[in-house]
Amino acid sequence: MEVNYWNPDVETLDRGQLEALQLERLGNIVTQAFKTPFYQKRLSRAGIKSPANIQSLDDLRKIPFTVKDDLRQSFPKGLMAVEMDEVVRIHSSSGTTGIPTVIYYTAEDMENWTNILARSIVATGCTSKDVFQNMMSYGLFTGGLGLHYGTERVGMTVIPIGGGNTRRQIQVMKDFKTTVLHVTPSYLLHIHSKLAEYDTTIDELHLKKAFLGAEPYSENTRKKLEELYKIDAYNSYGLSEMNGPGVAFECVYKEDMHVWEDAYILEIIDPATGEVLPDGETGEVVLTNLIRSALPLMRYRTRDLAFVHPEPCKCGRTHWRLSRIQGRTDDMLIVNGVNVFPSQIEEVIMSVPEVGTNYQIHLTKAGSLDKLTVRVEIYSKMFTGELGELEALRNRIKDKLKASITINAHIELHEPGSLPVFEGKAKRVVDNREML
Ligand code: ADP
Ligand code: ZN
Repeated sequence: MEVNYWNPDVETLDRGQLEALQLERLGNIVTQAFKTPFYQKRLSRAGIKSPANIQSLDDLRKIPFTVKDDLRQSFPKGLMAVEMDEVVRIHSSSGTTGIPTVIYYTAEDMENWTNILARSIVATGCTSKDVFQNMMSYGLFTGGLGLHYGTERVGMTVIPIGGGNTRRQIQVMKDFKTTVLHVTPSYLLHIHSKLAEYDTTIDELHLKKAFLGAEPYSENTRKKLEELYKIDAYNSYGLSEMNGPGVAFECVYKEDMHVWEDAYILEIIDPATGEVLPDGETGEVVLTNLIRSALPLMRYRTRDLAFVHPEPCKCGRTHWRLSRIQGRTDDMLIVNGVNVFPSQIEEVIMSVPEVGTNYQIHLTKAGSLDKLTVRVEIYSKMFTGELGELEALRNRIKDKLKASITINAHIELHEPGSLPVFEGKAKRVVDNREML
C-alpha cells in the first residue's frame, strides 16, 4: 500500500521526541491558560500557581478537568487568552446536547488546524488530483470550513456545496467527477436510496473515498457504505472544542484513527471516577489542545467513549490510534435496566442484508416496563414477496438484537423513504418515556 505523509518528521517522531514536543507545547498552553479568568481561578484552586508548576507530562494530571458547562458559563470571554482583535475566526459546536459552545481562533491557530487537517487528508491517500465535495454544512459548524481549508491546502479541487439538496449533490458529483466526499454516514446512506429516483447508477460516479464523521456509527455501516458506493470510507473524528475535525483520522490501513499527538494530548478516563484508565480500556476521551492560543482548553471531557491502542501502525506513523467512538456518555439508553448505545443497535441491523438505508429507535412505556421499538427501512423488493418472508425477517432481526444487546425489541419494517431524513447529524432516538 502506498503511504504518503504531509509532515513526515512529526508523523514518525519516536515516542520520546513526541512526548518532549508535547511537553514544550503544553508549557505554552498553560501560559495562555493563566491569561484567562477561568483558568486563573481553576488552576490556583488546584494549587497550580504558575506555569512553572507543570514540569512533566505527568504533572498534567494535577490540572482539573474542564467540561462543556465550563465553556458555556464562561461565555463570552472567560476562556479567552488573547484580545478580540487577534481573533480571526469564531466557530461553535452543533449543540447536540444543549446550548452550543463557542470557540475562538487566532491566525496562527487557524494555520495549525489547517495543517493537521492537511495531514489527515494526505494520510488517506488523497492528492491534489482529487475533487472534493464537502457535504457538511458550512457556517458556525466546524465540519464545513475546517475540511475546506485542509483540502484546499493539499491542493485538491474543493466544491463547497454544504449539506442537503440531494438531487443537486448527485448532479454535482456527476458534473465535476467528484472523487472524495465529506459527509455524515446517515446522509450518505440516504443519498444512496435516492440514486435511482434521479436516474443515476454508481458506475456513472467517480467516487473513490469518503470521510465519514460528526456522529457515531458502526463498523457495519462503514462496510455497507463501502459496498454500496464501491469506495474506501475513512473515519474522521473531531469536536469544535478541539478546533473541529482533524483530531483523529484513519490512514490508508483503516485500522482506527491516528490521534495527532503533537497537537492533542489524549487520556482515557473512567467517566464515573475520573481515574485515568490503562491503554486498551474503554472510557471517556479527554483531550488537551496544544495548538490553539486564543482559547486554551486542557483536559477537556468530551463525553465520547472509546479506547486507545498503542501499537505501531503499518503506515509508520507513531501517533497512537483511537477506536471507533462507541457513543457519548449522554447517548446511553437504559432500557429496563440494561445499558445500550444506539450504535450497538445499528451494528446489528446494518449486518442484515435486507435492511435498507435508514432506521430509528423508539422508546415508550408499556405499563411499568420500557418498550424498545426499532423501525427499519428495508429494500422495496422485500415487500413484493410473501408475507411469511417479512415475518421471518422481523424475527431474524429481533433474534440478532436479543443475542447482542439482550433486549427483546419490537421490530417494525418500513418501506424505503418512510422514516425521517437528516442532512447533518442524525437524530436516531425518539424517547417518549415519561420522566418520573
Ligand atoms: P456537539 O457536541 O454539539 O455535537 P460538535 O459539532 O463539535 O458538537 O460535534 C462533536 C461531536 O460529534 C463529538 O464530540 C462526537 O460526539 C461526535 N463525533 C464527531 N466525529 C465522530 C466520529 N467519527 N464518530 C463518532 N462520533 C463523532
Ligand atoms: Zn496508520
